[in-house]
Amino acid sequence: MKVFKFGGASVKDAASIKNVSAILTRFTGRKIIVVVSAMGKTTNKLEEIVGSLLAKDQKTFVGLVDELQQNHLEIAAGLFPDKHFHIFELLDDIFDDLRGQIQRNISDNHAFVYDQIVSLGELLSSQIVNAYLLDQGLNSQWLDARTVIRTDNKYQEGTVDWKKTALLCEQHVLPAFQQHDILLTQGFIGHTSEGFTTTLGREGSDYSAGILAYSCNATDVTIWKDVPGMLNADPKYFTDTRLLEHISFKEAIELSYYGASVIHPKTVQPLQQKNIPLYVKSFLDPEAKGTTISSSTSQDAKIPSFIVKKEQLLLTISSKDFSFIAEQHLSDIFQTLAQLQIPINIMQNSALNFSILVDRKKVKLESLRAALEATYQLRYNEGLELVTIRNYDQQTLEQMTKGKETIIEQRTRNTARLVLRYLE
Ligand code: ASP
Repeated sequence: MKVFKFGGASVKDAASIKNVSAILTRFTGRKIIVVVSAMGKTTNKLEEIVGSLLAKDQKTFVGLVDELQQNHLEIAAGLFPDKHFHIFELLDDIFDDLRGQIQRNISDNHAFVYDQIVSLGELLSSQIVNAYLLDQGLNSQWLDARTVIRTDNKYQEGTVDWKKTALLCEQHVLPAFQQHDILLTQGFIGHTSEGFTTTLGREGSDYSAGILAYSCNATDVTIWKDVPGMLNADPKYFTDTRLLEHISFKEAIELSYYGASVIHPKTVQPLQQKNIPLYVKSFLDPEAKGTTISSSTSQDAKIPSFIVKKEQLLLTISSKDFSFIAEQHLSDIFQTLAQLQIPINIMQNSALNFSILVDRKKVKLESLRAALEATYQLRYNEGLELVTIRNYDQQTLEQMTKGKETIIEQRTRNTARLVLRYLE
């Protein structure tokens, strides 16, 4: 059994969904779990809908729901010429139910409310795609991911119960494959033991593919993207990017840790544990080779990879009484950063200072200052970028630092990390 994952861009309109069906037709007769994301930017729209619901802003809420419904209806109309096709009724029911939310009492647990509503994006897309596959004569069956993926009650970032999920896979997935070739399911969502919907964190559909592959013992996973595979740099910032044809699980985890955005960071871990290869391929050119991620490390160091994070903020924390920054201080500071959910990109300490580099957007400076104020002083530098080079050499280092001031440089044998500022 294979697992395929199609993201938002691959199901963003009727033509894209037809392309998904064409790709699946090439695999007729194979057993495939197909995981789909919400269509295009639906999840962002649903987040706005949750915002207006929590703010009890009925006018905005209704406007946004109407817009989203219109968008889904247009896509469905591009796939199913018969206006009476059952999918239209199903879509109406889902949207009527969503509209009714504004009349109901809303739970105080906003993360819970978020998950119950934002998960609709994947439910809608999976219903539409499945109906289209059936219409095209593919032997597909819609599978509610919530009957299979079990999580705890941590809404918006559910933690997977691996044992239970494997058991549920055995009960629901394996028997379904006796009658069907394709099980079409949703990425991003799971369920609690009480049956409530949870989500796995933004961009979590890749992770769903990894969870299902691990739990159902798939032979391989393919993530179909609008890029030719994993590239050694982001084409947004670099002109001559190269395809990484083959990298190891470890290298893929490293690259996604440093910020390479092609696959969700959590996806690879379960696959690595069971040695299930992961292919990243282009849905625009399904014949092309793409990237293979497997246990083999032989190709890892062949090509340098570049990962750039813009809009970085360098925070420098020092104690007010000029004492050394020692273990107790570090422990206090880390606790505060964890409480305020500030992820650290780089850290460095000296006798009197502890410096961390963070994404500008992820830190509320005033809250951090207030939390540290009693004991510490906080200074910061803005307008920096972080460049990570895997498998660097002297030439790549020079190339990346040209015309820039190096504020921090950290190197291991394989990885160079540079905090840079553009020279005026
Ligand atoms: N639809 C979700 C999101 O946009 C999950 C995903 O697409 O991976 O974050």
